[in-house]
Amino acid sequence: MCAICGCDHPHEHVHADGTRHSHAHAHAEHHHHEHVEVEARVLARNDAIAERNAAWLAARGVLAINLMGAPGCGKTSLLERTLKERAAGSLAVIEGDQATANDAVRIRAAGAAVVQVNTGTGCHLDASMVERSLRELAPSPGSVVVIENVGNLVCPALFRLGERRRVVVLSVTEGDDKPLKYPHMFRAADLVLISKMDLAPHVDFDVASAASNARLVNPGVAVLRLSAKTGSGLRDWTSWLERELEGLRDGAHRRVEGPGDAPRIER
Ligand code: MG
Repeated sequence: MCAICGCDHPHEHVHADGTRHSHAHAHAEHHHHEHVEVEARVLARNDAIAERNAAWLAARGVLAINLMGAPGCGKTSLLERTLKERAAGSLAVIEGDQATANDAVRIRAAGAAVVQVNTGTGCHLDASMVERSLRELAPSPGSVVVIENVGNLVCPALFRLGERRRVVVLSVTEGDDKPLKYPHMFRAADLVLISKMDLAPHVDFDVASAASNARLVNPGVAVLRLSAKTGSGLRDWTSWLERELEGLRDGAHRRVEGPGDAPRIER
């Protein structure tokens, strides 16, 4: 069966004289081109909606963060702790998971407005899901919206949502070489958070090497260490959020004065 389209064409003919003739290569090639075109169209449509989201957010002075990372790296725990510290001002959340509203329940219990998106078989959030969720969430001007993406180090890197910043969480229970194995995700990051630092003494994860691997694929990327459990490093993270909010406000003031600072999506 063809891995790309799922079709069931025979890839090999056996001729009457017993010789075999394979169509696998030509067939895969044909579908590869079709697939690339479809993918480009899907991404272009997504980017157009992401631009719209970015403009919608900028008009309200809302800072949107796309929070990404593998399943179980501590994205939701980080948000719970961030809300507990209450240092980030008004913060609302869009929760992306394939199934369940478990994380939305946790975030609501922590005191924030939240919209849960279930993607079913989907492995990432896309811009139209975020567009609908933003309308439903109606974040207040000057607030922060964290979009917790579906746990995955691959696909979410491809789909812009209209966010201003991308934050990737890497826990010490994963491997310190993950930035090298998933370079697209780490290259897209504005900030890398090394989480579960309370567990660092018990695992072989080399924090310095994880940070240098992240900088190999994304030179100059900011790397912070924290533990949502103990609260260590939380201040660095909330300060980063404050600075980003300030930057957004300053940018908005500059926009009033003159053109040239319109939100733009870069791939
Ligand atoms: Mg979660």
